[in-house]
Amino acid sequence: MMSDQDSFIERVLIPHEDIQQKVRELGEQITRDYQGKDLRVVGILRGAFIFMADLIRNIKLPLSVDFMSISSYGGSVESSGVVRILKDLDKSITGVDVLIVEDIVDTGLTLKHLLEVLSTRNPASLRVCALLDKKERRLVPDLKIDYVGFEIPNLFVVGYGLDFAEKYRNYPFIFVLKPEYYQPEFTR
Ligand code: 5GP
Repeated sequence: MMSDQDSFIERVLIPHEDIQQKVRELGEQITRDYQGKDLRVVGILRGAFIFMADLIRNIKLPLSVDFMSISSYGGSVESSGVVRILKDLDKSITGVDVLIVEDIVDTGLTLKHLLEVLSTRNPASLRVCALLDKKERRLVPDLKIDYVGFEIPNLFVVGYGLDFAEKYRNYPFIFVLKPEYYQPEFTR
């Protein structure tokens, strides 16, 4: 998959095959845990869309899907933990077993706020599945992530849905960019 044109790649952190294997395992686990339940899988746009598409095809249950788009207030690099809902869920989650699908949990502030917002709507249950977990960066100590794909070190990663300045989402593996590609002239 890597070619000479992919000169912006510093290092592949998680190859595609490892992601696919993990997604299969997560799907099997979720399938077991939600037997007989009314499962609604909620993807957080845009970072989770590739992961979610693969994950739900490995969940052998009659589930439904919905999406939410959120952004941190202020637009700073560091998360403030106060999320603005850019696109809310289309359907009510009252009495529904909700599984939130996230790309990555970093400080945990975004997820904490999202869980607070959604729990006021009285779902039957509310759990979280995150592909990546930067545990050492956590500022919310008691945050429970029910299903985690990979724990990763404190690196900024892209690929498999994750972006830098809206690019690199289409690469099927998780990787670290070369430092020069974080410069503003490469964000266009
Ligand atoms: P938190 O509120 O947990 O600090 O931030 C979570 C959000 O920050 C993620 O949903 C994602 O949008 C963004 N984020 C955190 N770490 C990374 C990273 O390494 N790469 C990318 N592309 N986004 C990240």
